[in-house]
Amino acid sequence: MIRVRCPICAKSFEIAKLDDLPSFPFCSDRCRMIDLGRWIDGSYTVPAEDSPPPQNPSDDEGSAEEED
Ligand SMILES: [Zn+2]
Repeated sequence: MIRVRCPICAKSFEIAKLDDLPSFPFCSDRCRMIDLGRWIDGSYTVPAEDSPPPQNPSDDEGSAEEED
């Protein structure tokens, strides 16, 4: 028997062989997907920083220094 503890829901269970648990080391596909989601959330996605507002260089802000 192999004792397994699901890292997601912390449920302990025993299996006879790994073949019995396709979602190893998770208890179910659901927990596996949850872990996958966490992983993607934490490491994969670039922290979405607020992108600076697009600046308009052509936008005159009171052109007081016009030459000539
Ligand atoms: Zn689980």
